[in-house]
Amino acid sequence: MLFRPFTNTMRVLFILLDYEDDDGPLLTEPAAEELAAVVGESFEANAYGRLSMSVDVTPVLTMPRPGSAYETGPSLVRLRADALLVAEQAGFDPDSYDLEVIFGVVHWPTAASGIGALDNHTVFINRVGPRLTVHEMGHAMGFGHANFLHVVEGSPLDPSAVEVLYADEWDPMGGGGGQPPDVDVELQFNPWFKLRSGWLDEDSVQTAADSEEVDLIALEVDPSAGDGTAHALRIRRDVASDYWVFLRTETGEPLEGPIVTLGYRSQNSNIMQSRLLDMTPGSIADSGPNPRSGRRSTPPRSRTACSRSSRSRPTSTARSAPCSARTS
Ligand SMILES: [Zn+2]
Repeated sequence: MLFRPFTNTMRVLFILLDYEDDDGPLLTEPAAEELAAVVGESFEANAYGRLSMSVDVTPVLTMPRPGSAYETGPSLVRLRADALLVAEQAGFDPDSYDLEVIFGVVHWPTAASGIGALDNHTVFINRVGPRLTVHEMGHAMGFGHANFLHVVEGSPLDPSAVEVLYADEWDPMGGGGGQPPDVDVELQFNPWFKLRSGWLDEDSVQTAADSEEVDLIALEVDPSAGDGTAHALRIRRDVASDYWVFLRTETGEPLEGPIVTLGYRSQNSNIMQSRLLDMTPGSIADSGPNPRSGRRSTPPRSRTACSRSSRSRPTSTARSAPCSARTS
């Protein structure tokens, strides 16, 4: 089982499956070693070195039943049990790992490319790709999706806004179905997820009690290299959700100006979710750039100012319009 914080060493086992009735495995051992290195680097970069990911890779192991045997009934349970069995027979001790990632051609009744939430211990992958792997492992760590709240009119929080699932493409927990593909695998998890993982600590998060100016450094910057400047500004919205203001500047599609997300827990499952708020021109208090189309022109340090009150206006340096959005 994975328990927070996700620091020190995390031991992960990649189990490579083949079925007698298939043409070949999803992933060969050399390709899996390469994937493991990229995925490990991605998490370690996200954790600023606080997490060391140790990944062992099994050879390609043939399952005891044909693939079709896993396509009905309790298919994931059966598949997991047999995958652990063949791994054990190959000399691995699955119980000694924090997480196992099972790679195989799809033989379960779902359209998903991966499933990452079985007991916080098992991830299933049926399409090769580092970003998808990071995404599904993120689910096993308890992270929900990073969605996008598309403004139709008025405030980002106007009831007419449309939530687009997975559509925060800069967060590994969005866009994780593989689009865009794996070039962005080193994208950073949002600061709330990082805080809960133990990769950022409270010193890196400034909580706004009132309207104030705050210096921020980009999410990609290692806290130990900084001077104590915060990575994120947290503004309490209500008992169940917070606004998070932060900067992404150094990977993927660099952005201009602060990003604002809403961190909340899903009502049914209590899983941590994130919503990127649309800062499209035309929104209320339109004083900032559109995070979805911005390009880097700012240094990795920026000054922003926010108010938790809908009535007080941001100061002249404010660039984050949502901070003055309605909070109801
Ligand atoms: Zn997902």
